Amino acid sequence: MTVRTRADLADLPNYVPGRSVPGAVKLASNEVPGGPLPSVIEAIASASTQVNRYPDSGASLLVDTLSRHLDVEADHLAIGCGSVSLCQQLVQATCQDGDEVVFPWRSFEAYPIIVQVVGARQVRVPLTESHRLNLAALAQAITPATRLVFLCNPNNPTGTPLGREEIEDFLDRVPEHVLVVLDEAYREFVTDPGIPDGIEVARRRFEAGRDNVAVLRTFSKAYGLAGLRVGYCYATPSVAQALRKVYLPFSVNAVAQAAAVASLEARDELLVRCAEISRERERVRDGLLDLGYEIPPSQANFVWLPLGEDTAAFTEHCLDHKIIVRGFPGEGVRVTIGDREENDLFLVAATSYLEH
Ligand code: PMP
Repeated sequence: MTVRTRADLADLPNYVPGRSVPGAVKLASNEVPGGPLPSVIEAIASASTQVNRYPDSGASLLVDTLSRHLDVEADHLAIGCGSVSLCQQLVQATCQDGDEVVFPWRSFEAYPIIVQVVGARQVRVPLTESHRLNLAALAQAITPATRLVFLCNPNNPTGTPLGREEIEDFLDRVPEHVLVVLDEAYREFVTDPGIPDGIEVARRRFEAGRDNVAVLRTFSKAYGLAGLRVGYCYATPSVAQALRKVYLPFSVNAVAQAAAVASLEARDELLVRCAEISRERERVRDGLLDLGYEIPPSQANFVWLPLGEDTAAFTEHCLDHKIIVRGFPGEGVRVTIGDREENDLFLVAATSYLEH
């Protein structure tokens, strides 16, 4: 007898993480270039002396600290092992076999994998010609079987954002039984005041008695803790409670909780770093536009080069220059904004690509 794993996993793609090559500059995973602040390293060291004990499964200090920083009630918050875990918890909390999850495509690569693993049905809605989420088509794709819609704002990998009015209009059109998840993994890099803070949008809707919005944020990007895996969700108390029910016990470890608390306390300093990355994003985009590349406006810590069939050649050319970027075969290349020196190296590679 051989063990029988689920037949439908055979055609499920593996999640492909950004490559790491020793000695190369990695601009492939939307990480920030700076390491943890001294106060965060201290919190990590201090928490590490207690790891013979299980972590606080409710992450109460982290939840209280978040509640204070975001000015929201603690019972509206749920913590997860990275926001990718919360994506899964949201699907688990809303969908049973055959229920539908609608999401834009291309968008965050984990959405289709999670939906299939949970046993729900994927409904992918193509982006517009200008690489933006197609909200009209997303609304049309909703059926009585739809339980959840992911809106990634700004979208990974294109960086394109959604504005306040279009989000409000979409939320007004969505039936009340459908949970709309605003995935704001890159929120802290947004500089355009027309892009709303999803937590504000959700709070106003909750006050108006509408409960079908949830907002996802992460400590992996702006807070620089990708290696520690902490994310959070702001939702109604009943959705937050459902997320806690499907939470894998103890999955946010004690070191990660302590680092997240220390990072929140150092928030102002970290947001200064984000502002610098956002400035670099504009510089890199302008440089690429000057070279003749098409680059949609980005509000995240990466830019998108819709290179189509040239994607593989461009990715290889960057690797020859010891720069790892993220290619999506046949579609385009996503380049994370690094520090100034790293970005300059990338611009040199993008220049020589056109000459080769
Ligand atoms: N959402 C989006 C849109 C992302 O791009 C990512 C990370 N690539 C995540 C969620 C998950 O981030 P994490 O699990 O590190 O919090």
